[in-house]
Amino acid sequence: MRYISEIINVKLYALIVFSTLFYGLAFTLSDFYDSPFNDTYDLFILTLQWGVVVAATFGFLYLIILNKYIFAIVFPLLTVSCSILAYMRYALQISLTPMLMDLAFVNDARTWMENFNFQLLGWIITALTVSIVCVYYRCKYITVKYPFIHAIIAISIIILTNSWSFRRPVSQRIPYVIYYSTKEFINSRNIVKEKRNTFVKNDASTKTDSLTVILVLGESLRADHLQLNGYERNTTPLLSNDSNIISYPNIYTQPYYTHTSIPHLLTRADSISPDRAYEEESFISLFKQAGYKTYWIANQESVSTYVYFMNECDTLIYVNGGKSLYIFDKWLDSDLLPDYKLSINGNHAKTLTILHTIGSHWWYNAHYPDSFEIFKPVIKSRVVKSNTREEMINSYDNTVIYTDFIINQLTCELKNRPAILFYISDHGESLGEEGYYLHGEDRPELHNPAFLIWYSDSYREKFPQHVQQLIRNKNNRYLTDFLFHTILDAANIESSYKNKQLSLINL
Ligand SMILES: [Zn+2]
Repeated sequence: MRYISEIINVKLYALIVFSTLFYGLAFTLSDFYDSPFNDTYDLFILTLQWGVVVAATFGFLYLIILNKYIFAIVFPLLTVSCSILAYMRYALQISLTPMLMDLAFVNDARTWMENFNFQLLGWIITALTVSIVCVYYRCKYITVKYPFIHAIIAISIIILTNSWSFRRPVSQRIPYVIYYSTKEFINSRNIVKEKRNTFVKNDASTKTDSLTVILVLGESLRADHLQLNGYERNTTPLLSNDSNIISYPNIYTQPYYTHTSIPHLLTRADSISPDRAYEEESFISLFKQAGYKTYWIANQESVSTYVYFMNECDTLIYVNGGKSLYIFDKWLDSDLLPDYKLSINGNHAKTLTILHTIGSHWWYNAHYPDSFEIFKPVIKSRVVKSNTREEMINSYDNTVIYTDFIINQLTCELKNRPAILFYISDHGESLGEEGYYLHGEDRPELHNPAFLIWYSDSYREKFPQHVQQLIRNKNNRYLTDFLFHTILDAANIESSYKNKQLSLINL
């Protein structure tokens, strides 16, 4: 009995519970306060999620509190870091992502300094004071007997709350976001440093002296929700009236997640050699060899499977670097436009610009401005099952109308020059078929992404046969393997790595 009562150390547990609640209310809550919910059931789910993050925090604080020296150093540091993150979340609606770290450490440290003010300073001082009081109490009043047993309990809680479906929500919330984002950031830096010497030098060349090539990587846009492809709703009012658009309704993508699809699209990966997506350079390198200036403008997080290609470009620009999937305020593709215009209007005659859009990603309402709320009623809850199928499809279709607008904005800038734009979505989206939503399970509707090509009049004058071929092939069935070879052909680049058989321009 004495043994057990010594383990159940009241003062120790009181301090862990106090510091956990402090974290849960002062910091973790900042990741939840703006989550949309509809009814008490949603509120219950949200509270449950918050509870899991708090339990995970409990495990970590429990572990560091066992040794007073570790606690005295780690706890105040962690508390200050968390107070800065919570402030960023409340005041700026941004959270700590590998992209944001890239922006801050690698690109531009001023971003951090610009947001420093007295409110933040007060917030930090309060948090620091609380943490110092906790450290004082720990050192003065608590002795831990059997630390080994306590450590086993604490580690078990950490492992439990970081496993299964808990892992993702916990990893993107304060305080665990610090660990997971840093890990992903370091991992990405290592991948970028990798040498993928796939292509021999001077293999690619072009006789074209001036051309603008755009590749828009779409998100979760299924081909059958485009009016252009026969969908009954008017989801493409602008593109449907543009005679320079070619839409391909019969594209099949094998991968159906962003992080597997993007590397497949950009490399020579195909059904026979899918691993090339993780071993080879992309067509970006061949564009560079042929004298193109290359840009990647990202409105999505950088993920280890394709961060290599983002850095393969001469210029990499993040817009919305602090957005994560658990932020529900507006996150729009129009933010890509200023940098897009700069990329095509610089002093390079040949440019390739890749735009990674947020498109039709879940929490649809965040990805179109209110003025694009055409189909109503829209979703009201972040808990998918709390919305009706009609609301899900309405919100989704509103993102499609907004994508129509964005693509039109992009092509308007290209009218007076030889230019070609590719739009391809990474995969589709389930919208209630057999009760499935979003893109978690392997479902047929995920494998048919939207794919469009737009060309300017002067592109057609320059390459009439390209356009003829592209139009002729529009109703054929293709695997997404075609992209690598077709975009090289469209840019008039010759290379021994191009396989004419896989190109849509098969002259
Ligand atoms: Zn995706």
